[in-house]
Amino acid sequence: MLEQKQAVADCMNRLYRQGLTTTSGGNVSLRIGDDLLLVTPSATDKGRMTAEQIVEMGLDGANRTPQHTSRSQSLTEGIQRPGGLATPDDLATCIRFSGETPLHLEIYRRRPDVRAIVHAHPPVASAFTAVDRQLNVRLIAESYAILGEPAVAPYALTGTAELAEAVASALVGSTCCVLMKNHGVLTVGSTLLEAFDRLEVLENAAKITLLVSQLGTAVELNPQQLAELDRWAGRTG
Ligand SMILES: [Zn+2]
Repeated sequence: MLEQKQAVADCMNRLYRQGLTTTSGGNVSLRIGDDLLLVTPSATDKGRMTAEQIVEMGLDGANRTPQHTSRSQSLTEGIQRPGGLATPDDLATCIRFSGETPLHLEIYRRRPDVRAIVHAHPPVASAFTAVDRQLNVRLIAESYAILGEPAVAPYALTGTAELAEAVASALVGSTCCVLMKNHGVLTVGSTLLEAFDRLEVLENAAKITLLVSQLGTAVELNPQQLAELDRWAGRTG
């Protein structure tokens, strides 16, 4: 279990190093077996996350972290005062999972194939959630092959059942990434690395869309090339 918790912490630290999330934003989760999740904690420095800080949670939303006690709960509440980000030294943060956990739970309940989820607010892809312009994955082969077509979910307040419903409903079929209006992005995968890769490729696709719009008239992959990439990626089209 420690190795898997380290992988979740490493994924979050890598998101921060790559400029894909802020110190306080974003969250990562991994499904273990059928009904146990490992989730990053809330109000914690996302650039210095350790395995000991990762929360264990049931698919029912119950906190199953061994060190989850009433004493540490109250300590965490103290740490979570506005402006008070916890550090790896504040082990009490182990017991408080991410505020955006309802989103993760709802997706795992509906998509048995999903084993990992990465959610963040990367600047360029997030900018596309705040304008009436499409993030174009049909410009570069890698974008379309890795992502397919991203879904779009309507805005709802962070941490609410309404947001969980909106995003989970958008992830139909084999859809692997969602643009969350006026918020950020979320990707899923069969492994942590796959979910991370998809988020990074999505941010790249957003940058490429922006650059192409400045360079001139876009020349998209044609329907035959897109169908070829669908087959390459194992999608039915
Ligand atoms: Zn968010």
